[in-house]
Amino acid sequence: MRINIAIDGPGAAGKSTIAKRLAKKLNYVHLDTGAMYRSAAYKAVKNNIALDDEEALCNMLSNTDITLTPEGKVYLDQQDVTSLIRTDEISLAASQVSKLANVRSMLVKRQQDMAKDKGFIMDGRDIGTVVLKDAEVKIYMTASAMARAQRRYDQNIAQSIPCESVEQIAKEIAQRDMQDMTRKNSPLKKADDAIEIDTSNMSVEQVTDTIYAYAKPFLEKEVH
Ligand code: C5P
Repeated sequence: MRINIAIDGPGAAGKSTIAKRLAKKLNYVHLDTGAMYRSAAYKAVKNNIALDDEEALCNMLSNTDITLTPEGKVYLDQQDVTSLIRTDEISLAASQVSKLANVRSMLVKRQQDMAKDKGFIMDGRDIGTVVLKDAEVKIYMTASAMARAQRRYDQNIAQSIPCESVEQIAKEIAQRDMQDMTRKNSPLKKADDAIEIDTSNMSVEQVTDTIYAYAKPFLEKEVH
């Protein structure tokens, strides 16, 4: 049967990389919800909207189109912002706007609408706890702070995204994790029924295979 898979965890734990791989393997759609918060933050910064002005941000969002393509491109009002939303400045700005309840509910609604017919692998912070509470498979993916910083650094270099040292990235990730875990609305936490995977010493293939093994019994289940 077709299922939904929720992947949550702190910044740079490898969620999107794995979700992409798994989506390809299963012929499912990957939805990177972080890209939606990043796009909202990017547009706010460009339009000088204060990152804590909930009303202005919601007005902005009601006139904002965010399209995520199967190839991993992100279009904000038809402009390709795929790499523009990956800077440190926008990472922190995304964490700011994502604190706001009404901003969240607007984006959560879009995410739920998209995934209602199943066949989605969604990654973020609140997927297992809020967005897809009924997902058949829920994963909480972690990795050591150093492994995460190194991976993000390598990824930035490979994609020509401007970045500073590994230490600087580690600092930015730690600040963002703290904000995401301690916020009032939908803080990052492991869902009670999620499986925790520490990927610090695992390859991309190993993590993908591990999640696939959890999903297999559901995928093979007949629907009557
Ligand atoms: O996943 P990514 O690191 O791209 O997400 C950027 C930021 O967006 C996170 O630090 C978090 O504040 C926010 N976010 C969220 N809920 C999600 C996905 C991302 O609050 N489902």
